[in-house]
Amino acid sequence: MRDPSYHDAVTCAICEDTGWKTITVDGVSRVARCECWQQQFSQSLLKNARIPRRYAHCELSNFEIHTDTQRAAHQKAVRLVEQFPVVEKGLLFYGDAGVGKTHLAVALMREAIIRKSARAVFYEVRELLKLVRDTYRDSTETSELEILKPVLEAELLVLDDLGLEKKSEWVDETIGLVINTRYSERRLTVITTNLQDVESTEPGSFIFQLGLRTRSRLKEMCEWMRIDSVDARDVGRYPTPEDIEHWQKTSPASPKNRRGSSLPPKASSQAKAQLRKRENDGRADLKWPGGRAGSR
Ligand SMILES: [Zn+2]
Repeated sequence: MRDPSYHDAVTCAICEDTGWKTITVDGVSRVARCECWQQQFSQSLLKNARIPRRYAHCELSNFEIHTDTQRAAHQKAVRLVEQFPVVEKGLLFYGDAGVGKTHLAVALMREAIIRKSARAVFYEVRELLKLVRDTYRDSTETSELEILKPVLEAELLVLDDLGLEKKSEWVDETIGLVINTRYSERRLTVITTNLQDVESTEPGSFIFQLGLRTRSRLKEMCEWMRIDSVDARDVGRYPTPEDIEHWQKTSPASPKNRRGSSLPPKASSQAKAQLRKRENDGRADLKWPGGRAGSR
């Protein structure tokens, strides 16, 4: 006997699940891909994009903007998606933890996939290095190239948290290979990092962690956007001025409490003067950048 739900098995009323629909162009009947096919295609691209579950909710429309740098970075992300795939430069978001760098990177990637069918892939840098390293074990059948190929060739690559990896010659070489290949093939790369863009070789700086050469490559292939804000993880998603004030007083991440400032003495005293001025104003300012004030 025939399954009574048989007639429900066809899910698309437009194409009856063939994936093709008939359209009329200049009075001539032609076939085109049905929306359902496009949707399924986007879904499979999304599945292959390796977006971690904890970032699954990240969209451009739900990115929270509290500061000017967040607004500027968001605008760049929106623009990149609009222009994709004809985009001159990728983006590099840098700034402290919790300002939304990864949110933006994931969101623009997801939208490029859904709207433009981008072949995109997300990798947290330390995880990528671990996967490559794991291929050196005798027991594994995956080759280094199998891991690296999609990273080198993706139309859009997101490298998350560059600069947290422990330095070694091998790490330098592997990251250098990825950056250099994508640079010379002119492939679009979006990077997030906590590294600091200072003209010195101190730990935590681009030059110390990546070297001058890779840094200058990144300058050429990406537009650098600093993002700062008070840390949403510290003050909650919708902080009140009292929350911000409390955070400024107590958090070790607050510039007030930060030890070993990387600012030159002059910039540092400027920053302090600014902070004092704001305190005297007697109100917390949501636009107050979370760090390195006065270094612009
Ligand atoms: Zn259909």
